[in-house]
Amino acid sequence: MYNIKISNNFTLQEFACKDGSHQVTLHHQLLAKLQHLRDLAGKPVIITSGYRNPSYNKNVGGRPTSRHLTGEASDIQISGMHPDEVAHLAKQVGFTGIGIYKSFIHVDIRPIPTTWKG
Ligand SMILES: [Zn+2]
Repeated sequence: MYNIKISNNFTLQEFACKDGSHQVTLHHQLLAKLQHLRDLAGKPVIITSGYRNPSYNKNVGGRPTSRHLTGEASDIQISGMHPDEVAHLAKQVGFTGIGIYKSFIHVDIRPIPTTWKG
């Protein structure tokens, strides 16, 4: 069950909290956009942080209102692509929250579009 395929290229466990608890919440719109991004890139999208439970979110310095807590955000990398390029694709597929960091980008589905550099 846990390793269940939830779209063409993603399994549920990829979005689970990285604290080993196996807890996971995932918004269907986030998944749909990530699959679209994967299709556009033609390369695997690596989820470096998906769902976070409140204690794990605190441990990694996440904001108390982080969309990782509700399954509406992921931090991602695409091998061989600069975060700026990944952000460009993320905008194309309709992600509304896009944070660009050194080695990854944050994407989410917030109501009001925002882009930032971390
Ligand atoms: Zn994030």
